[in-house]
Amino acid sequence: MKKLRKRKVKILFVILTVLLIVCSLRRENTTYNINTQNVINYKYILVNKGNKLNNDFIPENLVKVKRCSLGNFYLEEEAAYAYESMCVDLINKGLNISITSAYRSYDEQKELYNTYLKLYGKSYVDKYVAIPGCSEHQTGLAVDLESLEYDIFKNSQEYLWVKENSYKYGFIIRYQKGREKITGYSAEEWHIRYVGKKTAEYIYKNNITFEEYYDLFLK
Ligand SMILES: [Zn+2]
Repeated sequence: MKKLRKRKVKILFVILTVLLIVCSLRRENTTYNINTQNVINYKYILVNKGNKLNNDFIPENLVKVKRCSLGNFYLEEEAAYAYESMCVDLINKGLNISITSAYRSYDEQKELYNTYLKLYGKSYVDKYVAIPGCSEHQTGLAVDLESLEYDIFKNSQEYLWVKENSYKYGFIIRYQKGREKITGYSAEEWHIRYVGKKTAEYIYKNNITFEEYYDLFLK
């Protein structure tokens, strides 16, 4: 009798474990396609590993960035103007930034993803490179920065300034150290995202991620 009960408990345990594994796998792999028509305001769009843009999605108002940009980089209009006004103040402080990446189409992201996958493998891309459709760069609201004075952005005076001041222009440092579990990515000090002044200020002052802000106010 005791043996039978033990066996039953064992079977139940195995079933529960299998169920838990299946559930967690399903949760990790669930990605929703964003209906861009339903987004309250474009600058609040949440794109991450769980929220995917369609292959053919292209932002409506892409403009070429004219300041603090040494190449042909495009951003959504409002983000571009915010970036340029931040740039004026950076220059006035004697600092020097440029862009290494801004808007990227679905196909460009696909090419980048496959290149990095071949070069560095799956565990690297999982940490740093979004799968096509899941990159914020496809929104035209994200910019990757470089310092023209320092090789590593994280070590630059430009980064220190951007970290403390970019919220005043509507930007946030999107992927911060210690938030990997929430954002899904390792720290990227160079990647800033336009969310508008009010949201950026709240996120900066409360030291939260955009995912947490989204859950609080935009869901
Ligand atoms: Zn980036």
